[in-house]
Amino acid sequence: MVRENEIRRGEIAVAAPPPDDAGLVFIGVIHTPWTSRLMTPRMGRADGPLCRIEVHEPWREALSGVEQFERLEVLYWLHLSRRDLVRQSPADDGSTRGTFALRSPARPNPIGTTIATLVGVQGPTLLVRGMDCLDGTPLLDIKPDRTLFRPIAPPQPGDFETG
Ligand code: SAM
Repeated sequence: MVRENEIRRGEIAVAAPPPDDAGLVFIGVIHTPWTSRLMTPRMGRADGPLCRIEVHEPWREALSGVEQFERLEVLYWLHLSRRDLVRQSPADDGSTRGTFALRSPARPNPIGTTIATLVGVQGPTLLVRGMDCLDGTPLLDIKPDRTLFRPIAPPQPGDFETG
């Protein structure tokens, strides 16, 4: 069912910015073994080390049900990245590519994403593998892995006829 702006039965809302305000709120913090960018993997691996995603109030209630998913998409703010590069040279060999052709952390809005394997839930903390960010990286969002969802079929003629 398409959502407008209603609050439905049983739903809980907290104070949050209006939808057209793109100022992001950090909803938690990610703890990993890495304290240097050079040591941090370029991409997370399902067999990587156990990491902790700590969700802060008032968003802890939003974790209800995550335990049923084996894989979660995690979005985070790469808070030490520069944001001003439009062409980059990942190999530092004189050749360059546009920022949008790279998964480099240096981007206008340095949002990182990974598919994490959920190992356990301990109250407001998720135990996961598959991270590739520094210890202390701010958390932006958590969603079930998109590959677990099928697109909804487009409406067919007659779908909305009432008899
Ligand atoms: N998997 C994410 C993605 O594809 O959106 C991030 C990929 S990015 C290539 C991962 C690299 O970003 C790490 O190897 C590290 O050098 C850097 N990095 C990790 N955490 C960071 C942070 N909090 N601030 C700035 N750079 C970070």
